[in-house]
Amino acid sequence: MKKISVVFIFLFASLWGLWHMSKSRNFQISGQLISHVENADSLIALTFDDGPTPQYTDAVLAILEKYDVPATFFVTGKETENNIQEAQKIVRAGHQLGNHSYSHQQMVLKSYHFHENEIERTDQSIRNAGYQGEIYFRPPYCKKLFLLPWILSQKNKVSVTWNIEPESFADVRDNAQKIATHVEQKVKPGSIILLHVMYESREESRKSLPIIIENLKQKGYKFVTINELIRDGSDGSV
Ligand SMILES: [Zn+2]
Repeated sequence: MKKISVVFIFLFASLWGLWHMSKSRNFQISGQLISHVENADSLIALTFDDGPTPQYTDAVLAILEKYDVPATFFVTGKETENNIQEAQKIVRAGHQLGNHSYSHQQMVLKSYHFHENEIERTDQSIRNAGYQGEIYFRPPYCKKLFLLPWILSQKNKVSVTWNIEPESFADVRDNAQKIATHVEQKVKPGSIILLHVMYESREESRKSLPIIIENLKQKGYKFVTINELIRDGSDGSV
């Protein structure tokens, strides 16, 4: 009986550890993962997940243009295929596109073929939108365990997560001012900020954008794409 309890506790602890590892923002078992990029020049990056959508791409691009700020859009392959004109607009405006999977399913415990299809089809749609730079990968729900990191490392593809995520806090996410204040309190040179701005439900995130940009510019921060952040900073990967 005692033996069984020990085995059970061990199994439970292992599963608990794996579960935590699978959603870590700054650790994966193989390949390179970047959650921030330390630098001496106060460079930071704005990143937007999901989309592009016909409803909100123009509005987001207009804000970025007004403040002359570049950003990195982690798009899904499916939405990029369906809204290719929006993706093209993002590229033409000088922003960066990243791969956020094709169908936005969590990728743990899926087949090799599933991973291959999700990654390659999305890269293709990003190329079809006219983007020519390096394509980084951001896993849906930040979920990864063994196979995804291994496949990405085989492809020499870097995973890019984030280290500021105001929408993950229930007391912050539904108020633009609180979102902006959260970002202002957490930001450091090299920070990668995650926001969702492509769906109707994230009106407050869209509203927070001008406030975040104005506040951080005033503090001397300079917004760059993930490409520029990685090129100009020292690597914040683990
Ligand atoms: Zn997502």
